Amino acid sequence: MNKKMLTALNEQVNEELASAYIYLSMSAYFSAEGWKGMSTWMYKQFEEELAHAGKFSSYIVDRGGRIELGALDKPAHKWDSPLDVYKAAYKHECHISKCVHDLVKLARAEGDIATENMLAWFVSEQVEEEAAAMEVVTNLEKIAGKSTALFMYDQVLGNR
Ligand code: MG
Repeated sequence: MNKKMLTALNEQVNEELASAYIYLSMSAYFSAEGWKGMSTWMYKQFEEELAHAGKFSSYIVDRGGRIELGALDKPAHKWDSPLDVYKAAYKHECHISKCVHDLVKLARAEGDIATENMLAWFVSEQVEEEAAAMEVVTNLEKIAGKSTALFMYDQVLGNR
């Protein structure tokens, strides 16, 4: 694997770990606010992001590359409402999709077929990630101001 591709994949390991960090913070926020279901939903998201970071790092190792981890930014720890949190999660997933698409473009430019093939899974995964966050945003907008509905929806999200 060439150096450019290796550096970009190493950066993506950091992006996935930063995602995990953000979702862990969101999970803790929901827990503190008494939204058990949404806290569980975000904790599962946190675990998924750790798995994504692991997938990228295993791939780097398989290709004979060296892992070089960078520092993580301090994530936000306060939001205005559950809707605000899920809007932030959706926006973050759009950012991650762009990162994955940029990696695909780089793999193509470098003629790295194996990396392009590995990334196909992440391209599909990002479609799912964006859809999952957007679905919650849409539903939270629908029930805005109805506390009983929000209480019930929290339980639904906990069954994720
Ligand atoms: Mg991810």
